Amino acid sequence: MPNGSSDGLATLIGGRLAMDFANSGSPRRPLSWEELLLFLEASRVISPERSAVLLELPETEPLAAHALLQRASSFRDALRRIFLTLIRRDAPKPEAIEAINELLRVTEGHDELLFDGEGWRIEFVARENGLEWLLAAIARSAAEIVAEGPDARVRVCANPDCGLLFYDASRTKLRRWCSMAVCGNRHKVASFAKKHAGTDRSG
Ligand SMILES: [Zn+2]
Repeated sequence: MPNGSSDGLATLIGGRLAMDFANSGSPRRPLSWEELLLFLEASRVISPERSAVLLELPETEPLAAHALLQRASSFRDALRRIFLTLIRRDAPKPEAIEAINELLRVTEGHDELLFDGEGWRIEFVARENGLEWLLAAIARSAAEIVAEGPDARVRVCANPDCGLLFYDASRTKLRRWCSMAVCGNRHKVASFAKKHAGTDRSG
């Protein structure tokens, strides 16, 4: 059901569109159609109205939907690899960069102002009929991060069980956690418990 957009929003902690996309779904399995649409809607790449139309696509145009889903999944995996490479301060491999360039190439188009009932928003209008344009903004965001070079503040959450990626836009450049409320707090509680182990009778 498309009513899950609040769940989708909760995972948007990456700070940059491409990093949020790299965090979408579970890295252990391919994206589902619902996960892809939820992400595109939560990150405002598409409107809820368009998302509702696209939700039917696996039934109305199964081949097109399948092709886009496969492409989106492998692009997400490529982005994870690129960002983890940047975190290690290595240079991304040319074939990984090509995954971004391929999408930049096929998603030729332009931005247009569209009225969504409340106000004007900028929406990408593709020149081609394919569905790859849905990934255009993500490819553009990824390209911008890679172009920042070794100074790109790409990070992975310090909780080894978490694995979420984010862009460190903090002034101190010392952000360690995907979310202070989740992993940061868990860490604080754990180290507090460790420090007070043996002295804390309440358990
Ligand atoms: Zn985390």
